[in-house]
Amino acid sequence: PYTGPSAADILAKRKAYLSPSLFHFYNKPLNIVDGKMQYLFDDSGRRYLDAFGGIATVCCGHCHPDVIKSITNQINRIQHTTVVYLNHAIADFAEALASKMPGNLKVVFFTNSGTEANELAMMIARLYTGCNDIISLRNAYHGNAAGTMGATAQSNWKFNVVQTGVHHALNPDPYRGVFGSDGEKYAKDVQDLIDFGTSGHVAGFISEAIQGVGGIIELAPNYLPAVYASIKKAGGLCIADEVQSGFGRTGSHFWGFETQGVVPDIVTMAKGIGNGIPLGAVVTTPEVAEVLTRRSYFNTFGGNPVCTAAGLAVLNVIEKEKLQSNAFVVGSHLKERLTALKDKYEIIGDVRGRGMMLGVELVSDRQLKTPAKAETLRVMEQMKELGVLIGKGGFHGNVFRITPPLCFTKDDADYLVDAMDYTLSKM
Ligand code: PMP
Repeated sequence: PYTGPSAADILAKRKAYLSPSLFHFYNKPLNIVDGKMQYLFDDSGRRYLDAFGGIATVCCGHCHPDVIKSITNQINRIQHTTVVYLNHAIADFAEALASKMPGNLKVVFFTNSGTEANELAMMIARLYTGCNDIISLRNAYHGNAAGTMGATAQSNWKFNVVQTGVHHALNPDPYRGVFGSDGEKYAKDVQDLIDFGTSGHVAGFISEAIQGVGGIIELAPNYLPAVYASIKKAGGLCIADEVQSGFGRTGSHFWGFETQGVVPDIVTMAKGIGNGIPLGAVVTTPEVAEVLTRRSYFNTFGGNPVCTAAGLAVLNVIEKEKLQSNAFVVGSHLKERLTALKDKYEIIGDVRGRGMMLGVELVSDRQLKTPAKAETLRVMEQMKELGVLIGKGGFHGNVFRITPPLCFTKDDADYLVDAMDYTLSKM
């Protein structure tokens, strides 16, 4: 049993010594002390079904034995900077990662986070093209350093940093967007931004395939092919942010961008890549990668042996345990059952996403799509009492984010939906 500090003690220390901007879920925040596959355990030993997976981070399952073994073997041997000496771990993982990429995407730069990966990707696009203008989508989240905060497009997450050169296009949001599910109409806005907001030449375009922080918004069909064509014509590079949607989470595909049938010039990733270990990556073509030889480029811990050992183990587990296909089968079942709940409860305005990246949007008026923010919090709170942890997001904070570890089972999915059903029935 857990004998460490109580939740109250931890909260007091957080208050005294940690960033005042830290926030937590739940009125009585959980003190999570153990994790095992799709389960989390609090300080009293109570078990919770984890349907948020550390923000789509845990793909193999908490404390997956293969990943732990790989990490501990490596840390018992050497943990070090990646720069200046050779070590096989980074090379082996880069090779394995490249084998998962389409086209000529085979050069990997490692970072420590998604923010760093996107900062690097945007810099590469600017260097390669000699242009500054980047287009991202309204409602996107790409990170919180100066450049990526510029690309991020939700006021909730933007401080007053200098945001040079980023234009925010209409979000191809099938639920709330003005053009519904017509991806090509939204894509025209990107062409307009290029024509009227830039010299006609751009550095690039960055987007998620399914917006995570933005509330599990799957870009309208046919959007990316049309946008990629416009960007290419304007000399820019297309960047796919796979921080949440990568590593088999969508079920139907290994990478989110594949759901739209495009091949980006640069792919960025983090979160799931390390099953919870801090790791990020930028993958691009040899030709594009060449721009970073113009100066010294250096990242002390990017691709360090322990984190890349974890990454390699993650890829092996995804393959061995067929997690992508599990994400497809269980995720489809889960979505079907959630969609049935929508027929039962007026408050559910939309159920969307694919695989194990699903969203449920609560509205108090289906016609007006009025965000039901307070109810969202109440349902989350109640589901926690029933032993199920889900996430929340969206600009209005009224979307449940369901992004469990990819080992989630059909029984888990049923339990989650039953808990949501019961909770909604009591409201
Ligand atoms: N891109 C996306 C799509 C994300 O969801 C996030 C994190 N929520 C990031 C980038 C930034 O990653 P990190 O927090 O590791 O810097």
